[in-house]
Amino acid sequence: MKEVNSPFRSQGTPLEGIGGVHNFNAGPSILPKQVFEEASLAVLNYNDTGLSILEIGHRTPIFQAIMDEARALVKALMRLNNEHEVLFLHGGASTQFMQVPMNLLNEKETAAYSDTDIWGAKAIKEAKLYGNVDVVCSSKEAGYTFIPKDFAVPNDAKYFHITTNNTIYGTQWQKIPNVSIPLVADMSSDILSRQIDFNSFDLIYAGAQKNVGAAGVNLVVVNKNILGKVKRVIPTIMDYRNHIKEGSMLNTPPVFAVYVCMLTLRWLKNMGGVAAIEQLNNEKASLLYDEIDNNPLFFGTVAKEDRSKMNVCFMIKDKEHEEAFLAFAKQQNIIGIKGHRTAGGFRASLYNAAPLTSVQVLVDVMKEFSNKVG
Ligand SMILES: *Cc1c(COP(=O)(O)O)cnc(C)c1O
Repeated sequence: MKEVNSPFRSQGTPLEGIGGVHNFNAGPSILPKQVFEEASLAVLNYNDTGLSILEIGHRTPIFQAIMDEARALVKALMRLNNEHEVLFLHGGASTQFMQVPMNLLNEKETAAYSDTDIWGAKAIKEAKLYGNVDVVCSSKEAGYTFIPKDFAVPNDAKYFHITTNNTIYGTQWQKIPNVSIPLVADMSSDILSRQIDFNSFDLIYAGAQKNVGAAGVNLVVVNKNILGKVKRVIPTIMDYRNHIKEGSMLNTPPVFAVYVCMLTLRWLKNMGGVAAIEQLNNEKASLLYDEIDNNPLFFGTVAKEDRSKMNVCFMIKDKEHEEAFLAFAKQQNIIGIKGHRTAGGFRASLYNAAPLTSVQVLVDVMKEFSNKVG
């Protein structure tokens, strides 16, 4: 790509740790700097067409190529088999809370759900609008601080729903449960961050704004064999089968958001794919958790074996230092580390595009602050 004198440079936003801002936002969140630059250029003049990406018809060969490449990249990066279809749909993950049961669950049937975070709880609430829900495991009573291990999933449930990474409290399923019924996952905050057998899921959805791209689009991967089994009338735009038939172009897709996803997926492929990013993600998470465990001022908030590599939640021992630490971190251009309003404390989101150098800066700042007040 052409070297651009990006306006972001002077404003110091997505500088990937080069003396600029260190962005740990939970979502929408950091994307690769080159994605911001390429997307900026495309808004002004897409590929020297003289047109902005924002004024190109979605049925043009130009956009068709973008959609095709985005879907193919997902297929390749996830090593999906031919039963799995890739869709880019409107709405955030919250739309999928409804669309999943609408397409998979009859009124008198039961779906199994796990309750491991506020997002999972919201998915349960929506599923109850369409059928019965059996909450087969929950860590709610313990403040969502662990991933349940011993539980049974009834064989006659229509599907089992999990949230692979719990964005708010910072836990993550390290081992994907092995079930005999269709497995459905909300992967909004850890999709394409680690090597798992994506084919073992029958439906995966993710709001794009955490690990895949810009807000306004959902990445959905669905095994087409599980569709078409409910009796209810599904509104046209809500039926996955219609989107599959139309190649994810049933109506106007969120063109720019899909384009940003495509650029981010391309970047991931050029980085070496999921295996390479997983290694980097492991390194970033170890660096920060080691500091949390070794620094006398801070402590982690969830069970060690269930710790998320994407959203690292921690607290400060002396609560009176909390605001001071946030202010101190801000002085060093660290942003987005305040915990979710229901969880409190701190949360550093280490998504794929977050550079190791930024994590190092955060760790140094924790050390410095600890020496200062300790
Ligand atoms: C952010 C998030 C959501 C909500 O996504 P929206 O796109 O805002 O609807 C759902 N699930 C998980 C796991 C999330 O992290």
